[in-house]
Amino acid sequence: MALAMFAMTNRLGPWSWRRSSCSCVRAPTSMLASMLTPSRTYSQRAPLSSAPLSSSSSVSSLPAHIAGIIRFRGGPISVAEFTRETLQHPSLGYYARSEAASILGSKGDFVTSPEMTQIFGESVGLWVHTACAARSAKPQPWRIVELGPGNGTLMDDVLRTLNMLPDGKRRLEQCHVSLVESSPHLRDNQRQRLARFHDGVASVSWHAEIADVPHGVPTIVIAHEFLDALPTHVFRRQERDGAWREVLVDVDDRDGDADGDGDGGVDHGVDLDVAADAPSAGGFRYVVAPGATAASAMLLPRRLAAMDPSVRDRLRSVEISGKAMAACVEVTRRLRRDGGAALFVDYGRGEPYEASVRAIKAHRQVHPLAAPALSADLSACVDFGAMALATASANEEVSDEYRHGVRFHGPVPQSDFLHALGAGERARHLVSACGDDESAARRVYDGYRRVVETADEVASAGGDRGDAMGDAFVAATLVSDDVACGDDAVVSAALSLAEARGAPVRGCFENNKL
Ligand code: SAH
Repeated sequence: MALAMFAMTNRLGPWSWRRSSCSCVRAPTSMLASMLTPSRTYSQRAPLSSAPLSSSSSVSSLPAHIAGIIRFRGGPISVAEFTRETLQHPSLGYYARSEAASILGSKGDFVTSPEMTQIFGESVGLWVHTACAARSAKPQPWRIVELGPGNGTLMDDVLRTLNMLPDGKRRLEQCHVSLVESSPHLRDNQRQRLARFHDGVASVSWHAEIADVPHGVPTIVIAHEFLDALPTHVFRRQERDGAWREVLVDVDDRDGDADGDGDGGVDHGVDLDVAADAPSAGGFRYVVAPGATAASAMLLPRRLAAMDPSVRDRLRSVEISGKAMAACVEVTRRLRRDGGAALFVDYGRGEPYEASVRAIKAHRQVHPLAAPALSADLSACVDFGAMALATASANEEVSDEYRHGVRFHGPVPQSDFLHALGAGERARHLVSACGDDESAARRVYDGYRRVVETADEVASAGGDRGDAMGDAFVAATLVSDDVACGDDAVVSAALSLAEARGAPVRGCFENNKL
């Protein structure tokens, strides 16, 4: 059946992926990234009482809790801290509430590529297999780590695919599956989803942080839409003097007396300029720090210095996620110790973003500052240039524990990455396996089309460029030197890994019956 004959209807009805609304000199050291990582990590291990609490001991809503932090500190907080509280507060946060169990899917807040089509996870499974085989021809103990596994759909497809590939069963028997997940409700989804694999793998375990995952065996890390969920700092260049200042979040009580002390608002004792764009919503407002903050002093200069001057000169604001950089540092250190490879897929590009922080509720974009009140998801596009810097700095660290060097590849468009792994052939195979069932074939094709279509392709079919995922999402890999990967200019290492192994990737799916 010709693929082109299908009408472009949405299988899941109204939907959205968390799409963007936005339009090396001195590398930051890995220590810097770690220092700017919020020191308090919300996880199942962190008791609620460890939070720097609002003065009230009975905070029942997230906006009240965040306003309490601002009052307690006597001043505004960073966008990164606002995001962390909104998403990760252990009882009120977006990922902590019981509703988190159903945020992914057509009835939830957003849909992701692995949820749209099995072809995504199957392609990643093939990449994982290729990396394992390029590392060692014989199956041996190893670990697969997924960061932010959501419903467990990607890992389910990856393990199912590995099980079908040559030596796959034996490789799985030696495989420790480690899931890094902060949401207890999503952990439950993952536990159910992956139950059928428990007997076929060496172990399955859950961890709040990647640093908690045991060391000692070669490791493959996969992460889809994980980095974008990590808090980002926002900086703005002042028009009057060109100085860079951090954008902060304050309580918006200019029209009233929100803190109830009769003075009409919170007195921070400093004169704060209100940021020009979308300054307020949900009881909060953006302000600009009057002087340097820790993040503006430590993260910003190094990221600016590493940028192409033509990019730097036109920026009016810039987002930097110290937490996402710290995740790359941690993954790089792990690969340097134990060997292996990592794959990050997210919406992003190789350059920084000016203003991509966005909030999504029920498939609609809402104001980021309203996210605590609406219980909305908050995310930001990923600056993979900063991730490459983080990897490079961790690669320069000296330690007796390090046995390998790690290289950063990409980012490349998701459609290139998936097609390099044979996604087109796999779609054709699955469509033809549907036989006369045209609606099933349509669903298969539609899922495939959604994850590979580029903005130009969507536009030429009369659609909205913003709906395209094939090039808005990109893939990047970190590959340690124990994985035989010859070509540095690789399309995210997938093809070269396959070539190194002597098996054309495109052929792998042609005749199999996954
Ligand atoms: N990868 C999945 C889910 C993406 S949603 C998919 O593509 O379908 C983001 C995931 O990251 C969720 O599982 C969320 O709970 C998890 N997450 C977000 N921030 C996290 C953090 N700081 N630590 C651990 N997990 C986190």
